[in-house]
Amino acid sequence: MYLFGETMEIDYRQAMPREKRLLAPFVPEGVLPFGKLRSDHLVVTTGEVQYESDGKTRKQMPDGSDVVEWETPRIVPYQELSSKIGVPIFPGSTVLNYGQGIFEGAKAFQHDDGELRVFRLDVHAERLNRSADRLCIPRIPVDLQQQAIHALLDIDRLWFPQQAGASLYVRPVVIGIDDLVRVGESKRYAYYAFLSPSGPYFGSGVEEPISLFVSKKFHRAGPGGTGAVKSIGNYPGTFLPARLARERYGAQQVLYIDVTNTHIDEAGAMNHYHLTTADELVIPEFTETILASITARSLLELAAAGRLPVTARQTNVNLERFLDGVRQRRITAAGACGSAAVLAPVKEYILESGEHVQVADGKVDQRTRDILSVYRGIQHGTEESPEGWMQLIERRTA
Ligand code: PLP
Repeated sequence: MYLFGETMEIDYRQAMPREKRLLAPFVPEGVLPFGKLRSDHLVVTTGEVQYESDGKTRKQMPDGSDVVEWETPRIVPYQELSSKIGVPIFPGSTVLNYGQGIFEGAKAFQHDDGELRVFRLDVHAERLNRSADRLCIPRIPVDLQQQAIHALLDIDRLWFPQQAGASLYVRPVVIGIDDLVRVGESKRYAYYAFLSPSGPYFGSGVEEPISLFVSKKFHRAGPGGTGAVKSIGNYPGTFLPARLARERYGAQQVLYIDVTNTHIDEAGAMNHYHLTTADELVIPEFTETILASITARSLLELAAAGRLPVTARQTNVNLERFLDGVRQRRITAAGACGSAAVLAPVKEYILESGEHVQVADGKVDQRTRDILSVYRGIQHGTEESPEGWMQLIERRTA
């Protein structure tokens, strides 16, 4: 059992026997797909929200978070969730019926010294807790999250793909598991994380900029809703607009506008950015309908530290003024940013009227390449990292 602030143990009793695990570094044949493969293990724990003796009042920590007794995280072979690994998923579970679930997406990289490092896991863990707050899910102590994921990355370190541009994608998830048909929050939760040895998000890489369909009909999020957090319920509503963008407009993704159809919100499941002729990187201000991307935050921090060839700022980005800026070539590069792809440059915006607004010459701009090279250099260990960004995965089991 884990209570806030304790050093934690990891339960390895169900881990795969050594001889059944991957025994040599993973060398993929051909370019690896993003997110498809899994490593040997999964880390999982469950916890129950504690109530006062009246059975109604939640016990609270001094910081206002719920008191939860989390079991010692277990490293188990990657498999379906079931009571076999202590996570029974009943047909009436709050996650399956009401979408009470949240997730994160982080990345780990192997550096030239052969060691694995994970990028800004503490910031991801803190964001998971902001998502938790919004969905009445108890916070998972940041040190519990980090220790569980470090243990998983440690035991499955050989799964890091020996291929240029590869990463070990980390997917933490929290779900409500009470079997509860009344609409309401669960008392019991499962926290788990798994790894996906991955190649680049866009197979063709940065050389092939994408098209964005500008949707005024569909919206991803509304004020007061859950758009600013990583709630699982935010995503299925984007499937239809994405399908339409693909099938009717030939665009890879959707540019979402706020519900008043005035400001740019997000580009698919990524933030949006643009670059001006004044070498300024502009990212929409984080509002109630925009997820505060860790990539965007990191770019802003790097620019402020003078590490990028551009300055950077956040502001509300008016869609029509943005499109005029692109048409008049004051805006000479634009794209989407997020952990999966880092930067995905956009070659054109396709409007509902059928108009195509091309960004500059439609090719990848040099500043985009320069920014990417600093960012990827930090992640892959060829550029100096800001303090604390790359957490070393200590060798405990190997
Ligand atoms: N916006 C949404 C809706 C997302 O799901 C993500 C992915 O996490 C992002 C933006 C990019 O955020 P990050 O840079 O933290 O990956």
